[in-house]
Amino acid sequence: MTAPLIDLRGITRTYGAGENAVQVLHGIDLSIAHGEFVAICGQSGSGKSTLMNILGCLDTPTGGQYLFEGRDVARCSADELAALRSEVFGFIFQRYNLIGTETALQNVAMPAIYRGLSGKLREGRAKHLLDRLGLEARATFRPAALSGGQQQRVSIARALMNGGRVILADEPTGALDSATGEEVLRLLRELHARGHTIILITHDAGIAGQAGRVIHLGDGRIVGDDRVGSPADAGVPLADAVDRGAPLPAPGQAGAVGDLAAAFAMAMRSLRNNLFRTSLTLLGIVIGVAAVITMLAMGDGSKAEVLQRIEAMGPDLLVVRPGAPNIRGSSDVKTLTADDGKALEGMPNVRRVVPENGKGITVRFGRNDYSTNGVGTTAEYPVARSWQVLSGQFLTDADIASYAPVAVIGTTVRDAIFTEGENPLGQSILIENVPFEVIGVMSTKGESAFGSDLDDNVFVPITTGRMRLFGQSHVRAIALQLADMNRSEETVAAVEEVLEARHRTVDFKVRNMASLIETATETQNTMSLLLGSIAAISLLVGGIGVMNIMLVSVTERIREIGIRMACGARRVQIQRQFLVEAVMVCAIGGLLGVGFGFVAGYVARALGSPVIFSLPPVLMAFGSAFAVGVVFGYLPARRAARLDPVVALASE
Ligand code: ADP
Ligand code: MG
Repeated sequence: MTAPLIDLRGITRTYGAGENAVQVLHGIDLSIAHGEFVAICGQSGSGKSTLMNILGCLDTPTGGQYLFEGRDVARCSADELAALRSEVFGFIFQRYNLIGTETALQNVAMPAIYRGLSGKLREGRAKHLLDRLGLEARATFRPAALSGGQQQRVSIARALMNGGRVILADEPTGALDSATGEEVLRLLRELHARGHTIILITHDAGIAGQAGRVIHLGDGRIVGDDRVGSPADAGVPLADAVDRGAPLPAPGQAGAVGDLAAAFAMAMRSLRNNLFRTSLTLLGIVIGVAAVITMLAMGDGSKAEVLQRIEAMGPDLLVVRPGAPNIRGSSDVKTLTADDGKALEGMPNVRRVVPENGKGITVRFGRNDYSTNGVGTTAEYPVARSWQVLSGQFLTDADIASYAPVAVIGTTVRDAIFTEGENPLGQSILIENVPFEVIGVMSTKGESAFGSDLDDNVFVPITTGRMRLFGQSHVRAIALQLADMNRSEETVAAVEEVLEARHRTVDFKVRNMASLIETATETQNTMSLLLGSIAAISLLVGGIGVMNIMLVSVTERIREIGIRMACGARRVQIQRQFLVEAVMVCAIGGLLGVGFGFVAGYVARALGSPVIFSLPPVLMAFGSAFAVGVVFGYLPARRAARLDPVVALASE
């Protein structure tokens, strides 16, 4: 003899513990065979729903044994119970328990998601079931737009979605008028005729009378078990009885990808349903990611700019300036002379020595006056600074030696005193009322590391400058071009030694471009780190917002979670759904944030800030947003998955 479908032995159920313990079921012994139509009848509060929850593996008994097809249910894990619910049972509730945010079709198709059916199969079968129940025109309606009878038919279709070998109906007509209730009962009889086992729970003896067998429940005990009709129709083989025309597909065809796709679709719907809340949650992530991207791009931009300016000044230079090392602004300190420069010539590792003198001057051409910066220097100046002449030529050694009244001008000066297209070469200009001949124009160099315009200069022989313009014998700076930058530190030491010996004091400072670059890089890196941390904190705050909203969402949807569990959702599937939702919020926020970050960066660039976009910060910011979703979505998702199906279903 094969085991009965359902075999209860001495089942008890006690709610609460200690003093508050209430025993609701007092030793239920009950056996139900395949294909029976059983009504469980009893007054309100007699324990019918409690019994049904135990039968449907939503709840576990406090004592006794429940054998389903000979298998001890108490030994099943939560997942095995979920699988049983998914493959065997179909629930019909008094209050329909449809998911309000989904359409009739989605409600009907939902149990098949947890059975691993692909979207196409799900939809096809759900449509077929709705058609069979006369709801083809209502497939896209939400439950709120359906009448009670229609909602109950949708829930019957849902109970049949995964086969529904055993239909558990708890007061299915309780909320319906008598005509509609009769219609639902007719459907149940029809399902019974097709081979489904029906367990109908009711307090109405008239309704119970429609079943083949009526079990009377009184105060948690079975007080009667009447077989009304003959059990002749019991045991019809299901395979050819159920769902002709749309056979139940084998489970698990969708695979992990299909599972995820279903989770994504559900997450998308739930996010759309709470659009305003979703946007607010997104905002935190968007701002965080955008901040990371913009700030790092601006940091990178200003770093590159500073480095480029330093490079423009000559990366292989040592610059000696007058003034004590710790004093800034040394323009009036007159401790450095051209002779100091001479003394440094020929030192090891020193290729060129270029002294530089100068002060503010006024140049005039025709009627145009212009205040600029006069620089007296030597012929090697452009070579040492790797600066090309645009037209004409630079000062020559002969010009220096002969105190020649010649000048080379920068492009800013050219544009200020010459009209466009006019050739400055060979023209005579007045510098501080002394006539000079323009022999060259320097190429455009841009700004220095300190922000001054390098093209706003007029170069004259250092000798001529000293005699006729500046009237001073000291120099402003001595630039030393080195042969090998790697030995710059020892050269700095040697230069300091020579100058200190000449001056008998340290009234000069030697600056190494390499160390300047290093300092600038360090400063910029610190800056980037600071900006990055601010951005990271805002991302963290965004993540906490996501967690908060997800917790609210779980609390709001406890009932939905219960329904899904009753329909066979395993814990991991519930968890995945909420996790996917959190990750999706963050991923969408991340994408928008990347977009806004770029926009903000371009705006900053348009406003004149240097901005450099690169891939790593973008990937990092998006990756962080994604990780935020996983980390902060985990807790709410776990909370959802750990819910007890009965408790969840009972929540309002
Ligand atoms: P019925 O469905 O027959 O109306 P129930 O099974 O819902 O009865 O409830 C039976 C008894 O168990 C009632 O007295 C009810 O108050 C109690 N009960 C049901 N669920 C709970 C619960 N979760 N906690 C405590 N008592 C409960
Ligand atoms: Mg009840």
